[in-house]
Amino acid sequence: MKAHDGMYIGGEWRVAAGTDTIAVVNPADEQVIAHVPAGVAEDVDAAVFAAHEAFPAWAATPPAERAARIAALRDVLVARKDEIAETVTAELGAPLQFSQMVHAGVPILVAGSYAELAASYAFEEKVGNSTVYAEPVGVVGAITPWNYPLHQIVAKVAPALAAGCTVVLKPAEDTPLTAQLFAEAVHEAGIPAGVFNLVTGLGPVAGQALAGHPGVDLVSFTGSTAVGKQIGATAGAAVKRVALELGGKSANVILPSADLAKAVGVGVANVMGNSGQTCSAWTRMLVHTSQYDEAVALAAEAAAKYGDRIGPLVNAKQHTRVRGYIEKGVAEGARLVAGGPEAPREQGYFVSPTVFADVTPEMTIAQEEIFGPVVSIIRYEDEDEALRIANGTVYGLAGAVWAADDAEAVAFARRMDTGQVDINGGRFNPLAPFGGYKQSGVGRELGAHGLSEYLQTKSLQF
Ligand code: NAD
Repeated sequence: MKAHDGMYIGGEWRVAAGTDTIAVVNPADEQVIAHVPAGVAEDVDAAVFAAHEAFPAWAATPPAERAARIAALRDVLVARKDEIAETVTAELGAPLQFSQMVHAGVPILVAGSYAELAASYAFEEKVGNSTVYAEPVGVVGAITPWNYPLHQIVAKVAPALAAGCTVVLKPAEDTPLTAQLFAEAVHEAGIPAGVFNLVTGLGPVAGQALAGHPGVDLVSFTGSTAVGKQIGATAGAAVKRVALELGGKSANVILPSADLAKAVGVGVANVMGNSGQTCSAWTRMLVHTSQYDEAVALAAEAAAKYGDRIGPLVNAKQHTRVRGYIEKGVAEGARLVAGGPEAPREQGYFVSPTVFADVTPEMTIAQEEIFGPVVSIIRYEDEDEALRIANGTVYGLAGAVWAADDAEAVAFARRMDTGQVDINGGRFNPLAPFGGYKQSGVGRELGAHGLSEYLQTKSLQF
């Protein structure tokens, strides 16, 4: 697999300051496919400096011109979508078809949405005797995870660029090749030197240096709640803007009037996609006691059908961790009805699609983010109990409600402490704000709400 041995800084691939490298492993066969440089504080310094130098001119570039550059970036992503999909498959392990549809397809949609928003957004408005300007915040430090490697990058970089900010990206150590490919695309799209910079490296080294850098005006982080808390504290101490997209433990609430087979089928598919490595996955299925046994049978059948059609987990650590959660579920008394902790293949970090029945709300598997292909089915007696269970975790990122009609589902969804809810299988909308209530995060990504995260307001009075 193609890899750069330098950092993309100031519009060129520069020699890394240190000599350490990170091995990139294909999780499907555990083979090393490439090495990338492990950035250090000096690399981060150079990248922040480049972003700082490029900021005034990019901020002053008319929004229509910024929009044209983002549209060009979208076009490069379209032209290189097969290469993107192959790269994501090689370093994340997702099946190629899923990589093509989701890992390559969604970032193209999102980049396109920001090309349009950059051109149409009201960066200036009149409020009484004032004119209020929405101005770019400055240099953005973006730190992204591996689970949707390109989407997470584009969901930060595209709105930042649309707003007139410049960016330093520190991608996840497991998926740096997709990030390097993105840097190539930025270059090809003619985005001026220094507007986007890439430093690959380890979280506690390069990531920490970026999050705490005095030259960074806003930190946008997606990843674990534990690291997010640290980054929030660092940013708070420096009175720096921060956006945090953290974990989730979303509820899929199936009300008694719903089409049970559809709700269970879509619910299981939602978790199994990307091998359960989706922060907004509906990992808790809430079913009324009268339909419980039928739902369990349907879910077990749906999971079994997935068989070995799902990809591996990203790395050995997650493989151990997720199987540990499955063992914990068994130990705490949940009933395995599909899958289990045994690795289904000798090679690769695979976990069987797993379904637990008789899960109670306080069990570890019902409270903690597992980040693997594991569904927990929880019983409720009435709607109030369903709501208590749905809201009964520290997270609040996403969810789903199913009922005979949308109005009934909406009434329930409005009582959920969560950032987004799919009603009766509602489709993904790249313009809808995405982000969490409670410990799932601070701030929103996507659409106009995502753009506004990178803006600050100035009012002039007349
Ligand atoms: P992580 O939080 O450790 O890593 C996310 C990003 O933060 C990576 O780029 C990493 O290098 C960087 N990072 C790590 N430590 C850092 C530090 N001290 N300072 C600055 N940056 C740092 O997450 P992970 O190890 O990739 O995954 C672990 C868990 O995180 C998963 O099991 C899952 O629960 C959760 N997760 C959530 C999401 C999400 O979208 N909400 C995505 C991936 C992982």
